[in-house]
Amino acid sequence: MTNSKTRLQSVMNFIKLAEQQAHRHPGSVKLLAVSKTWPASRLRELAEAGQTRFGENYLQEALEKIAALDDLTLEWHFIGPVQSNKTREIAVHFDWVQSVDRLKIAQRLSAQRPQHKTPLNICLQVNIDNEPSKSGVQPEKLLELAAAVSQLDNLCLRGLMVIPAIAETEEKQLDTFGRAQQLFSELKIAHPEADTLSMGMSADMQAAITQGSTMVRIGTALFGERHTPDKQ
Ligand SMILES: *Cc1c(COP(=O)(O)O)cnc(C)c1O
Repeated sequence: MTNSKTRLQSVMNFIKLAEQQAHRHPGSVKLLAVSKTWPASRLRELAEAGQTRFGENYLQEALEKIAALDDLTLEWHFIGPVQSNKTREIAVHFDWVQSVDRLKIAQRLSAQRPQHKTPLNICLQVNIDNEPSKSGVQPEKLLELAAAVSQLDNLCLRGLMVIPAIAETEEKQLDTFGRAQQLFSELKIAHPEADTLSMGMSADMQAAITQGSTMVRIGTALFGERHTPDKQ
């Protein structure tokens, strides 16, 4: 068995166990493989082991891999900051955008989504810890943004994505993810079709699953440590 397969199995087992411990339904937490900086060959190995969802942060790098893996049926999630001049290619080549935090970007994505494709799935990124320099809509502005985004023709509002500040203790992780879960409940009252709470990375997926995450975004635990500096 290759290294990729072993890692995938151990992450899947971890998720399964965390679901059990949190009294969640088996299979209620999906795995997004975050593949930034890794070559298409590594993604292909994971795809051959059964992984279908991949998350990318940088457009040019992503487009090369999407082209190289064109023979496979994969679901591509854009999870990096979205610049206005990149929306067209994102709207054409991706299935999901998890990092929408302003209306202007959502409007461009909707206008540029090709008509023959299904609506682009959208998660609104929330600045859950109100960090000054961080992307994401402020929690108190979320419902206003969601109302506007849900009106756009070629988008489908699926839920929320959060990237918390680094927390030293599990207690702090649980607190932050608990606030995200509360916001997600509020979102679902206004938008019952929203079904995705994207939170949890390699270092905090247990706490995220405890607090209701439906999609964990895992890079390091699946691929190993990244050597290329993270441009974010
Ligand atoms: C890189 C990244 C991840 C994965 O982080 P790991 O700690 O490597 O699991 C998840 N979400 C986003 C938005 C990222 O940029």
